[in-house]
Amino acid sequence: MSLTVLNPATEEAIATLEQAGVDETDAAVRLAHAAFPAWRAVSPADRGRLLRRLATLVEEHHEELARIESENVGKPISGARGEVGMVADVFHFYAGAVDKKHGETIPVAGGIDMTFREPLGVVGLIVPWNFPLNISSWKLGPALACGNTVVLKPAELTPLSALRLGELALEAGIPEGVLNVVVGKGSVVGQRLVEHPDVAKIGFTGSTEVGRSVMEGVAATIKRVTLELGGKSANVVFADADLEKAAAAAPYAVFDNAGQDCCARSRILVERSAYDRFADLLVAATRSIVVGDPSSDSTEMGPLISAQHRDTVAGVVDGATLYRGETPAGKGFWYPCTIVEASNDDRIAREEVFGPVAALIPFDDEADAIQIANDTPYGLSGSIWTQNGSRALRVARALDTGVLSINSNSSVRVSTPFGGFKQSGFGRELGMHGLDGYSEVKNVYYSTEG
Ligand code: NDP
Repeated sequence: MSLTVLNPATEEAIATLEQAGVDETDAAVRLAHAAFPAWRAVSPADRGRLLRRLATLVEEHHEELARIESENVGKPISGARGEVGMVADVFHFYAGAVDKKHGETIPVAGGIDMTFREPLGVVGLIVPWNFPLNISSWKLGPALACGNTVVLKPAELTPLSALRLGELALEAGIPEGVLNVVVGKGSVVGQRLVEHPDVAKIGFTGSTEVGRSVMEGVAATIKRVTLELGGKSANVVFADADLEKAAAAAPYAVFDNAGQDCCARSRILVERSAYDRFADLLVAATRSIVVGDPSSDSTEMGPLISAQHRDTVAGVVDGATLYRGETPAGKGFWYPCTIVEASNDDRIAREEVFGPVAALIPFDDEADAIQIANDTPYGLSGSIWTQNGSRALRVARALDTGVLSINSNSSVRVSTPFGGFKQSGFGRELGMHGLDGYSEVKNVYYSTEG
């Protein structure tokens, strides 16, 4: 069966591809399995060199990859350029990390005890449509650095950048079979990877619902799994914060990527005494977001990924709004920036809307802020805005979330760990922590007696 890939900003077809089924998935796993012994045996320095070449090729194809991503996801070209820059940096980082994840020697009686980090084998990487190339690189970098071979399944809606990356990997000299990209449905290709006896691990990013089924599926073969799932993160603004700065930054923490971001700070919690002033500043800042043609350098927000997703987002916003922005007329899966005054019990504050919709929620004091922020099944990211350093750290320690920023909304850096608490998943990506999920600790005891 063929698959038509759309540009969400124009609804035009930009590619038609053959969809893989179970047989093609099995063939990719066979290739990855066959390539594994030679790839794990490549010397660390040479594996690093090959990843470095891939990073350099991504840099050389920077504009091409950014355009593919912008057209396929509908994301503004300026954001897509930043993301491709990060992809190159991720491969540079893991190129340098190949020979820096050391084992240990442990004092024991009668001999020497040492640990090794062994690759797992074939890993299945299942990625979503919101940051297709970025999220692929967060998994590919550590997986390849550790000596695993890979079958990468991009989302059906956004397979184009992963396919191009697969070509660049070959051009970089990474041997055939080491990185295999398989385009097809999650319920077919993804499910087969989850079940396949020769796949040692699944690295998954996507919805909590599918993450749950992946976790159930891997139980049958006791595969390793890391899950990076949904979020409903809180942006906590205390009255003593630099309110102008916090309000100017807040819209980008929700409306960036049209809100299709697991790290979106989609619950904005504001101390009651500063609430009215903050609300005014927030609306003014949101009004200035440039929504429109993703190929224009000045655009800050594009459309949603699909008509179906737009219907889902619209279905969650059912009451009065504090602010509702404009969108271009005509074709495209547009949805306006929307701010809703809410309580934490409202549906809009509980569900991951995954669209440009922010819930503005007042709180009374520090204890109330912590209680509301933690009152969610998720725990991925979040922010704390205050000029009181002690309070900032107290609240940071009290929040049940994996990635926090103080007086900032940025979550993701190449060299620092990223991942969730609670139903936002487990396992860490990026930084040196990312390597833990793609290697197994082996303990070896060597007797020196006799
Ligand atoms: P999904 O969780 O359905 O998709 C993520 C990936 O999993 C895709 O590659 C998908 O394939 C694949 N997949 C789907 N079903 C299975 C399965 N049974 N076994 C294995 N893999 C599978 O996310 P959606 O794209 O449907 O988005 C739905 C919601 O999920 C969003 O509205 C948002 O709330 C959340 N989400 C969270 C993300 C995050 O970054 N944490 C990213 C994306 C979504 P395919 O799409 O090709 O069918």
